[in-house]
Amino acid sequence: MAEYRLDPWGTAVRVEYEKLFKVFGIKPFSDLVPRVEKVLGDALHLMRRGVIFGHRDFDKILDAYERGERVALVTGFMPSGKFHFGHKMVADQIIYYQRKGFEVFVVLADAEAYAVRRLPRQEIIRIALEEYVANLIALGLEKKRLHLYFQTNYETPYYRLIQMFSRKVTLAEMEAIYGELEPAKIMAALTQAADILHPQLEYFGGFKHVVVPVGADQDPHIRLTRDIADRFENELGLRRPASTYHRFMTGLDGNKMSSSRPEYAIFLTDPPDVAARKLMRALTGGRATVEEQRRLGGEPEKCTVYEFYVYHLIPEDTELRRIYEKCRSGQLLCGECKRMAVERLKKWLEEHQKRLEKARDKIHEYVEPPKF
Ligand code: SF4
Repeated sequence: MAEYRLDPWGTAVRVEYEKLFKVFGIKPFSDLVPRVEKVLGDALHLMRRGVIFGHRDFDKILDAYERGERVALVTGFMPSGKFHFGHKMVADQIIYYQRKGFEVFVVLADAEAYAVRRLPRQEIIRIALEEYVANLIALGLEKKRLHLYFQTNYETPYYRLIQMFSRKVTLAEMEAIYGELEPAKIMAALTQAADILHPQLEYFGGFKHVVVPVGADQDPHIRLTRDIADRFENELGLRRPASTYHRFMTGLDGNKMSSSRPEYAIFLTDPPDVAARKLMRALTGGRATVEEQRRLGGEPEKCTVYEFYVYHLIPEDTELRRIYEKCRSGQLLCGECKRMAVERLKKWLEEHQKRLEKARDKIHEYVEPPKF
């Protein structure tokens, strides 16, 4: 089989989802949705709609939840740019699990942003607070059952863990997972392993079952972390984390949504008119002419506007299905459909930005920033 490797620090993002199932043993999430509904009460729209498409051992998290054992979610953000709707998709997952009673550990990966993205420290800290923390609060993150921290400003046992992990991992093994490495990436990978595994330590409240929601490109970190957990099972009582995998949100031109391509991403701080203009220019799954679209129907699967509906703008599944069918049958044309999306987006942003203003006053109640 030809080598297939994911690059967690790369920018190209053509992930071949089928290969993840075949090569890396990730299981389809769709099989678990009915059980999620039964055990957790309801499934997040991202689960029901296949945006969260894969998992490792998430069934064990549901087993633990059913038995009344402690469960935690660990995730993080690299604060290297503005908070966009791709980030919101992760925030929606954090808030969902927090409401279901999971403890949530959210890491602000400032060490990684410094080492890998090479941004100045003060800029990273400002972005983390003003963009990430403020938006998370405005989206509904609560202080209960929350551990929100900067990688460079946390508790001593967390750093001890990074040092201990370095003893039981070889360079050859890391290169097999990540490809070419440099010290900054080795540090970043071991730090991420500590981010994921530290909630199980006695010092951080004792054992809990951990799930990590990630984009498919982050799977190398998960595999390394699961191996490390095995090696420290006896010494520290660590157990393998579970993981779930979500699809990427596409940029408005059909490539990756990224803060570094601001014209193709919608930020949660974009003035509603600016966001509306971006969405009106977005790539759709429409046909070349109106006549063709009436005859053949549109292709919502290729449409970035439809993706916005799926991920963010339409909570009700029946309404989403109605749009899908009208598009496929050629009854709905892209101009009308975009205007509808723009109206929903503007309304959502106006309300969110009011909450954001209030959230800014609360940032320091949620997290302590590093001193330098
Ligand atoms: S009608 Fe709407 S969903 Fe269908 S391709 Fe056009 S913009 Fe996309």
